[in-house]
Amino acid sequence: HQLLAGQVAGAVVDARAYAGERARAEALAELDRAKTTFFANVSHELRTPLTLLLAPISDALDEAGDQLPPAAHDQLVLALRNGQRLQRLVNDLLEFVSIEAGRTAAVRVATDLAADTAELAGVLRAAAERAGLTLTVDCPPLPRPVAVDPRMWEKVVLNLVANAVKYTFVGGITVRLAAVDDGVELTVSDTGVGIPAEELPALFDRFHRVTDSPARSREGTGLGLALVRELVDLHGGTVGVRSTPGAGSTFTVRLPWGEPDAASAPPSTPAA
Ligand code: ADP
Repeated sequence: HQLLAGQVAGAVVDARAYAGERARAEALAELDRAKTTFFANVSHELRTPLTLLLAPISDALDEAGDQLPPAAHDQLVLALRNGQRLQRLVNDLLEFVSIEAGRTAAVRVATDLAADTAELAGVLRAAAERAGLTLTVDCPPLPRPVAVDPRMWEKVVLNLVANAVKYTFVGGITVRLAAVDDGVELTVSDTGVGIPAEELPALFDRFHRVTDSPARSREGTGLGLALVRELVDLHGGTVGVRSTPGAGSTFTVRLPWGEPDAASAPPSTPAA
């Protein structure tokens, strides 16, 4: 009897703990939804006034910039640059929120991902070289096309390579794309500041930035990697990171070959 009573009591405790956990998870999910809605509304409200604020500054610089006293000109350039930074943050937030809300679905198109990735990485070559870094791109042709949403893949590659440039002070960045068992693997390696092990678990969480790191001085929102994870998720892929503080980081994205979406596939019979 005593044994049975003990088991029942144990089960009751388990059931309570389970109910408690579930209530907590539901409350957290609710909070997350509220936060997402809040960000969506705020970002949306900020967008129009920001555009209306920046357009005249930009026009004034274009039309009369050279007639302004140098000090006033420099102040306007500064205002424009910081306003554009805010605009990027607002746009990132809106994009992020719309993906989270499921309004943005990946539209997969059969893509020559090697050529595409090499071209995207090349966009940041000038920035890398200006920072005194080398950029090595190693994307040999793949045996078959990969079904990706090209706009999303662009964001993935540009975010990872831009981070590598941003958080590297000496050495360089290597971008590789290769076929693996059942898809492709992109690796973006750098010889940068690295990331402490305790930061890795939350690294892909939104707004997460590494505190107390040499990277902290660099501008950012902590949204880039969260966006990368969402976009890779939408393609049924995975993203991970390995890093040694002071030596560098390697971000790895794996994507399945995937199937192009019907709507994006070329018609089977040529139109007359
Ligand atoms: P952001 O760069 O805007 O802060 P991200 O989400 O892109 O936001 O990155 C989150 C954090 O991860 C960064 O603040 C930085 O501390 C760290 N991080 C990202 N990429 C690298 C990298 N290649 N090397 C070192 N730290 C990195």
